Amino acid sequence: MVIRSVDLRSDTVTRPTDAMREAMASAEVDDDILGYDPTARHLEEEMAKMMGKEAALFVPSGTMGNLICVMVHCDVRGSEVILGDNSHIHVYENGGISTIGGVHPKTIKNEEDGTMDLGAIEAAIRDPKESTFYPYTRLICLENTHANSGGRCLSAEYTDRVGEIAKRHGLKLHIDGARLFNASIALGVPVHRLVEAADSVSVPSSLILTSEKGLGAPVGTVIVGSHTFIEKAKTLRKTLGGGMRQIGVLCAAALVALQENLPKLQFDHKKAKLLAEGLNQMKGIRINVAAVETNMIFMDMEDGSRLTAEKLRKSLTECGILVLPGNSSRIRMVVHHQITISDVHYTLSCLQQAMQMIQEPSLNQTGKTENALSF
Ligand SMILES: *Cc1c(COP(=O)(O)O)cnc(C)c1O
Repeated sequence: MVIRSVDLRSDTVTRPTDAMREAMASAEVDDDILGYDPTARHLEEEMAKMMGKEAALFVPSGTMGNLICVMVHCDVRGSEVILGDNSHIHVYENGGISTIGGVHPKTIKNEEDGTMDLGAIEAAIRDPKESTFYPYTRLICLENTHANSGGRCLSAEYTDRVGEIAKRHGLKLHIDGARLFNASIALGVPVHRLVEAADSVSVPSSLILTSEKGLGAPVGTVIVGSHTFIEKAKTLRKTLGGGMRQIGVLCAAALVALQENLPKLQFDHKKAKLLAEGLNQMKGIRINVAAVETNMIFMDMEDGSRLTAEKLRKSLTECGILVLPGNSSRIRMVVHHQITISDVHYTLSCLQQAMQMIQEPSLNQTGKTENALSF
């Protein structure tokens, strides 16, 4: 019997589709470091247009994209960046902005919905003219959707208000939009509207968009900003070893992802909601269905329960369901376009069984009572 596989570890686990592989095979390519790859140009122009910005640049990963953007904005030693204490840049990027970029992070608490308090942002801004003890705040970073809060969306209005603070203080704004398309679909707001506050004239700005998450392309991120910004980013990409030659093969897959998978993103959210609603019926776990705004689900083991995230992950693996523990009592599940509705139902029924087995170990599947001392 072939064990069914339902991979909910992340939305980065998707396999390139047939259409993507065909597009990769027939992509027109040339040397992109010399600036001649036509497919890369096509993807970059497409992304810049969609975001309502002047220019774009393909880079190998979201991590490098964020690093490049922060370093271009903070090109003076002693710069400080304001960002969320639970943001991807701060938590999951090896502290690269400090170790490589020489930039000092000033973290603000991320609220449950992924925002940072506006008053706290403004209060954190520092200027060495006020005191020789201070670094110079130059940049604010937002993340939309906010991954560590479970894929919550930042509204256009919230982003506008952060943009106003940046403008008032002469700061720059960077948006980590690894899953910005998910936010756009969930809020029903065009993607360019969500980044309008990141206006290259009044607020010099940038954003990253990864093609390998919800969109389901195999590799790559695009940075977007003004012409001047992208020129500087291009130099820095080369410095960091991110200059690549015939990248048209990768960009071709990303172009197909935009066409094929972007319209399907709404279904990922529906499937995530379905899964969350099913989980909400089960005993022993806690889940906030209202907080499932996009494609991520966090479920917590109830206090005092026999369940642990690791026990549950192991039992699910036996059914071919892959998930990642968020911590000792939390499981994270991420829905993507290669998860079907039937996968969702299968996951729910396996979970139900696994939880019963863990919570009532004296009952095996046939209902026979085992020696209570044997576990
Ligand atoms: C995945 C992710 C990144 C980094 O992207 P990589 O391509 O994995 O380096 C950055 N920000 C957020 C919010 C992400 O989820």
